[in-house]
Amino acid sequence: MKLIPLPAFQDNYLWVLHDGRRALVVDPGDAQPVREFLARSGLQLDAILVTHHHADHVGGVDALRQETGAAVFGPAHEPVPRPFSPLSGGDTVHVLGMRFQVIDVPGHTAGHIAYFTAQVPQDAGEPAADGGPLLFCGDTLFSGGCGRLFEGTPAQMLASLDALAALPADTRVCCAHEYTLSNLRFARAVEPGNQALLAYQQHCEQVRAGGQPTLPAILGEERRINPFLRTRLPAVAQAAQAYNGADAGDDVAVFAAIRQWKNEFR
Ligand code: ZN
Ligand code: FE
Repeated sequence: MKLIPLPAFQDNYLWVLHDGRRALVVDPGDAQPVREFLARSGLQLDAILVTHHHADHVGGVDALRQETGAAVFGPAHEPVPRPFSPLSGGDTVHVLGMRFQVIDVPGHTAGHIAYFTAQVPQDAGEPAADGGPLLFCGDTLFSGGCGRLFEGTPAQMLASLDALAALPADTRVCCAHEYTLSNLRFARAVEPGNQALLAYQQHCEQVRAGGQPTLPAILGEERRINPFLRTRLPAVAQAAQAYNGADAGDDVAVFAAIRQWKNEFR
């Protein structure tokens, strides 16, 4: 299986997973890059997985469904272009011989879902790292950051991120936006003493200077560098308290303070 981030719009990635013949795409906000990639690679589109209803994630769904006959899967409680198979937490989806678990991750939107598979089938000769666990998380978890709270509460988003953070450390995290460098600038303001964060920022700056995506991120690394997965650590809680007086012992208040700080950070 090959995993490919197709760039779209300013900073979106439309994730494609394929076995050389058949493909799935996640959150095709634009049909055109997907259409071109399928044609260029001689692939048939079997399935479209949608994480949430925003236009930059569903804008290409109707056209791709019509042109390819792909089955569409999406969150049960969001206005995804119909017809689609409605999913919610605990459901499983079988596509391309893989089994994806659906996780409810409200916060960015009220009905946002994520897709996780513990194992991706491998061809002989493929790097072992290409066979591990995989997460498609839309706009919930970003490398070094998390989605804005458009429809959910800080408590909901914290619980959603807790559920994602509990997945295996070697999970490849396929986020829908290349926000990594700006997220890491903010993360450094929250945790100036985090050496792993400094090293990761330097690494990602090199990657971007070379024109490459910083994604997929690795979940174990995110736990070391992403302030939104680290709100219970004393350094982060104290930074939140210094920012707006949040009670450093209150998980949700700390998370809310860090999220608000990020919104205002320039
Ligand atoms: Zn969104
Ligand atoms: Fe988005």
